[in-house]
Amino acid sequence: MALNIQFLENEIIDQYLYDEHLTRPWIIGFSGGKDSTMLLQVVWNALKRIEPALLTRQIYVVCNDTLVENPRIVKFINRTLKKIQEEANLNGFPILVAQTTPRLDDTFWVRLIGLGYPAPNRFYRWCTERLKINPTTKLITEKISENGAAILLLGTRSDESSNRAKSLKRFEIRGVRLRKHQLPNAHVYAPLKDVTTNELWQYLNQVPPPWGGSHKELVTLYRNANSGDCPLVIDTSTPSCGHSRFGCWTCTVVNKDKSMEGLIENGEEWMQPLADIRNFLIETRDNPEIWREKKRRNGDISENLWGPYKFETRVEILRRILLAQKEIRKTEGIDLITHQEMVLIQYHWFRDCFFKTKVSDIYNQIFKVQFDMSKQEEKFQQESELLKKSCTTEPKDVAFIQDLLALQKTKTLMIRKRGLQSDIENRLDQYIDELKEN
Ligand code: SF4
Repeated sequence: MALNIQFLENEIIDQYLYDEHLTRPWIIGFSGGKDSTMLLQVVWNALKRIEPALLTRQIYVVCNDTLVENPRIVKFINRTLKKIQEEANLNGFPILVAQTTPRLDDTFWVRLIGLGYPAPNRFYRWCTERLKINPTTKLITEKISENGAAILLLGTRSDESSNRAKSLKRFEIRGVRLRKHQLPNAHVYAPLKDVTTNELWQYLNQVPPPWGGSHKELVTLYRNANSGDCPLVIDTSTPSCGHSRFGCWTCTVVNKDKSMEGLIENGEEWMQPLADIRNFLIETRDNPEIWREKKRRNGDISENLWGPYKFETRVEILRRILLAQKEIRKTEGIDLITHQEMVLIQYHWFRDCFFKTKVSDIYNQIFKVQFDMSKQEEKFQQESELLKKSCTTEPKDVAFIQDLLALQKTKTLMIRKRGLQSDIENRLDQYIDELKEN
């Protein structure tokens, strides 16, 4: 093998042991794809060569779940993460697996069905930040505030794409392994930056994962999905998101989802309903005159700019998702949308004065069971009506107060209240700025 693995491991050992701030944790971005798998494997094998007493630096293996990941890949990644944690514990490695997810009010379905955001395209890619960048940034920021600084290890390689090569160059500090990250006190370390794709596959084909099993499933997934990686996205310069990748099954940024098509062609026919929903989302986005409001949320009406999805469109999307969920649950045991998301969607529907059809009506009709949201529904409806009556002189305040209530509802549904105060303060600042502008 032309690739000098010994040299790569030596570099990692050197960085792990001799870095001047030994308390800086390492955060390894793990997507389950080929690049981050090789990265974790090389780091793991390097750790094995370090005296156990010197393994004092904490390592987090971070994997982000957008909640609309390809379900086939989610199963594979979850199994892998479990093996990683178990084997790390057995080896006494200071490794902790952490999974991040978007905030409830930022999930794909709450934004799309609850608030009527149109399915994303290249020009309005509202999802990447909410589903990928923010959850990971939150975790990195927490680790920085706990430890003063953190180092982010990524499987980024120069030959992956010219954009990424440029981004590697831009932040590189000459002669130093680490480059600055845009977050204060965060640095990025990309040990695989000079590894070519051929070398990477050779390595994965020859060296089994140290956490057990083989790379057979990973190789088969790549072959069947006819697709590339979706790495851990840490900023908007990461080009793979939305292109050829194992990413969100709902992604409408690409015209064709080669990975899903590939998997269906290779025997995963149960994914067809998902592909149909994705095609329907493209239809709703590309034909705004049928599926979207003329008026935007701020009240503007203009020639070429469309407002949110009509209520009927949101109902239809939810109906299709639940129908697919019913089918898939039987064979795969997978849910496409959570109950918490549905409760928040209902809240947004009341907020937008949609009283005709309720989320629970659609759910109960499809599943023939009682998804009882009556208490929440009654409360949301009364709240919405009362608020409108109280703000007749200042209707603008209604939207603002509703935003604050939505934040509070999100935190209640998530059980955790952490961050509520700062979220409310941020929204207040935003509102004051809006008032000043007008
Ligand atoms: S994969 Fe597509 S839908 Fe998912 S965050 Fe990226 S651009 Fe958005």
